[in-house]
Amino acid sequence: MIHSHSSPESLNKIIIDTSALETNFRILQQRVGQDIPVMAMVKADAYGHGMIQAARSFSRAGCTRFAVAEIQEGVVLRQAGIVGQIFVLLGFQDIETHLFFNYDLTPVIFDYQALRLLSQAAVSNKRKIAVHLKVDCGMGRLGFMPAELPTIMARLEDFPGVTLAGIMSHFPMADAPSSLPTLEMYRHFQTACATSNQQGLVFCHIANSGAALYCPETCGDMVRLGISLYGYYPDGAPGKARNKGEKLIPAMSFTTQVIQVKTVPAGTGVSYGHTFISDNETKIAVLPVGYADGFLRALSNKAQVLIKGQRARIIGRVCMNLCMADITDIPGVEPGEPVVILGSQGVETITADEIADWMGTISYEVLCLFGNNNERHFIKSEYCKIIERK
Ligand SMILES: *Cc1c(COP(=O)(O)O)cnc(C)c1O
Repeated sequence: MIHSHSSPESLNKIIIDTSALETNFRILQQRVGQDIPVMAMVKADAYGHGMIQAARSFSRAGCTRFAVAEIQEGVVLRQAGIVGQIFVLLGFQDIETHLFFNYDLTPVIFDYQALRLLSQAAVSNKRKIAVHLKVDCGMGRLGFMPAELPTIMARLEDFPGVTLAGIMSHFPMADAPSSLPTLEMYRHFQTACATSNQQGLVFCHIANSGAALYCPETCGDMVRLGISLYGYYPDGAPGKARNKGEKLIPAMSFTTQVIQVKTVPAGTGVSYGHTFISDNETKIAVLPVGYADGFLRALSNKAQVLIKGQRARIIGRVCMNLCMADITDIPGVEPGEPVVILGSQGVETITADEIADWMGTISYEVLCLFGNNNERHFIKSEYCKIIERK
């Protein structure tokens, strides 16, 4: 492997295949249709994949719309040279108002105070700003209630310099096998849009990955995709199994290496609390991965890893920076042996869905935990070479 840096590297590496990101964007854009733009959700450092690198990959595949949680992330994206629309989902603090103008960011609005601040800034700078309104059509989270919309529309002229460009909402269960609740909620959303869209100028968007994949009637004027761009289905393995089209490609792998191999006799307790006690003589590989690396303690005595292309069980508690794998049935393992925590080795694959099942969570959380707690390396699988490290 050729590295652009000569600084020491962690034994634990997150590998992001940027060609998987590009391919997923192309697959999904084709699936929703070329006339419906795909917005790439790159919040949470692109679900652990690295916000700037992921945004560049999606750009290369034709993406011109991105969304982040907080305004600082939008600034960072612009400074990295990302062009196109950048949505800021979670509002802003008073002193940050100017950043929307200076960095051409698009605010998502869910209260009057934001409208007031943006209007004041627009007027004093002789600028205009286009905003999208967030409406809560059943998520019970951020947004104006639909019943407030007529009042907002009537009051918009009190906020000179601010124009309404879009209305958006979010589905709470678009990943469910039944699309009935989603369709029902979509009808509420359409009603809300009709109230505020008398001239037909306003852009209406609500669909996330689940809706775009399983309930395409709700795609509206744009889809906002996250998990599917990273190669996973919102409902995990069942969604992947059901999928008939081109398969999405997981972009993230997590690798480490064995730092010690030892053989312990029957009756040996392993790790804190001795929650594992060997029945027979057991060969153990000690791995430099623990909950500080996002490999949560909940994986104790549950997870598996790949060594020499075979599955090895994690035995005993996962520690802060260490865990132990049972390699009794895997001959020839020495310190330095490559280990795959997430991804493929030989014919075996461990997916984020499988790890999520062991942890009692969803792939989204696994990707954020692993990706955002370890050194990321970016490869383009066509060439199988490391092109950049961050
Ligand atoms: C994160 C997010 C999405 C994307 O959801 P996925 O299930 O990852 O596709 C869409 N819309 C909003 C408002 C979000 O915060």
